[in-house]
Order: sequence, then C-alpha cells, then structure tokens
Amino acid sequence: MVEAIAVASGKGGTGKTTSTLALGMALAETYDVTVVDADTGMANLLFHAGLDDVKVTLHDLLVEETATAVADATYERFGMRVVPCGTSLAAFERAEPARLRDVVADLAADADVLLLDSPAALDSKSAILPVVLADRVVVVLQPTIPALSDGIKAQEYARTYGAETAGVVFNRVRDDEETETIARQAERYFGGETLALVPESDLVRAARRAGEPLLSYAPDSAAAAAYREAARRLDVRPGSSEDVADRFRSAVIPERL
Ligand code: ADP
Ligand code: MG
Repeated sequence: MVEAIAVASGKGGTGKTTSTLALGMALAETYDVTVVDADTGMANLLFHAGLDDVKVTLHDLLVEETATAVADATYERFGMRVVPCGTSLAAFERAEPARLRDVVADLAADADVLLLDSPAALDSKSAILPVVLADRVVVVLQPTIPALSDGIKAQEYARTYGAETAGVVFNRVRDDEETETIARQAERYFGGETLALVPESDLVRAARRAGEPLLSYAPDSAAAAAYREAARRLDVRPGSSEDVADRFRSAVIPERL
C-alpha cells in the first residue's frame, strides 16, 4: 500500500533535495514515509540529511558485487526512513539502474509514501527510471519563465511513462509581482495545482550546511510552513492494490528516450 512520488524539475539546483526531505518530514506526521536519493549521478541527499559518513548506500544496492539487503542502506532519521546514495563516480558507473526497481519494490512493503529525489536532466535510462516508477511527480521550479518550460518538459516525460503531475512547488520565491503572474500561468500549463510558494531564505541554506532537513532545523520558518501546506495539498493516495511491488519489479525501462 504505497504511493510513489518522484520529485523532479528539469534542471539542477532548483531545490529538489530540499523539497524531498521537507515534504517527507511533513508527510511523516501522518504517513509512513521513505525517501530515496534516486539522483544517483548527482547524489546530495546524504549531505542534507547528515548521512555523509554512512557506509552502505543505494549505490551498494545497485552494484551486483556489493548488493546487500535493502535494510542495510535504510536509515531511520527525522521520523522517516531515508535511503541515501553515495557520491562516487566509479560506483555510479558500475551501478545497474534496473536494480532500482527491486529496491523500490522492497521499500514499498513498509511505506505509505515513497518519495524519489530524481535527477535533473531526464536524459538517460538511469535518470528516467524514478519517473517511470512513480505514480505522480512533484515539479520543483524557480518562478521564472525559462524554469516553467524546463518543468513542462519534465512533465511531458512523466506523462509519457504514465505518471501524472501532483503539482508544482515554486522555490526560492522573492517578493515581487512576477511570481504571482508566473504561478497563474503555471496553473494553466501544468496538470496539477501550485502546491506552495517557498520563499528564498537563509535558513534553507543554513539547514543544508547543518546537515538537517529544513523542517528539523527551522520548523517555525515561513519556508517550512510552505512545505507543510504543500504536503497537505498533495492528498496522498496510498495504492489500493497489493501487487504494487510487482508493478515496480516489472516496470519497463525505455530503450529509447
Ligand atoms: P537540487 O536537489 O535540485 O539540486 P538542492 O535542494 O540541493 O537542489 O538545493 C540547491 C541549493 O540551493 C542548496 O544549497 C540549498 O540549500 C539551496 N536552496 C534550496 N532552496 C532554497 C531556498 N528556498 N532559499 C535559499 N536557498 C535554497
Ligand atoms: Mg539534489
């Protein structure tokens, strides 16, 4: 009984990892949440979650020679289960992306919500897989016109693989009128609603430096409140079928992108 939600953007540095952990913590007040750093080429969730010194990560699960039980790479942190990924380029090169299907299928057994922190550019088999596996996609964007078009591309990919848009999180929002206009345009272009406007905030950067998710580091901040609102609007739909693990295991990885 799980809903898999990919957090994607079409571009790096928009705040996907920040948003994955913030939404995860907010949802963890109600649901059993597992977050996975499925951005295996540019993993950085480990730094955001204070897990940069752990020995076993998702990379170990994705490499045949080092594969071990999924539980060995799963850490109980901040009220969630967290599966970080390592940053070694060698491990990334040896990793078999297809193995992510079995990892996600195993994790699905103990979760209501699986959040998959996804790669920025959806341009390879390993990059597209989190979106292929997801039921829905949260798109994280800065409130600019070029970012909207990146996000719309990400949405197109998601739709191609059967995932709908859960909504858009506008991040790093500054006080100006343009944001309102862009948010209105976004509601027209995206299938989902605007989930939140998260302000640009020094506290978000400080949380990252402290190796703590925003909702742990600064729970009373305006940015944290915006993420809690986004989580409420997400309206999680834990799957009703028991065969969800089979769906993950048998997901078809596109040959051509
Ligand atoms: P991504 O995963 O999309 O690459 P991150 O979540 O790692 O992006 O964020 C990139 C950088 O931007 C981090 O240093 C993070 O602290 C910072 N950042 C993200 N959101 C905000 C915000 N709302 N205000 C200020 N800094 C932010
Ligand atoms: Mg990231």
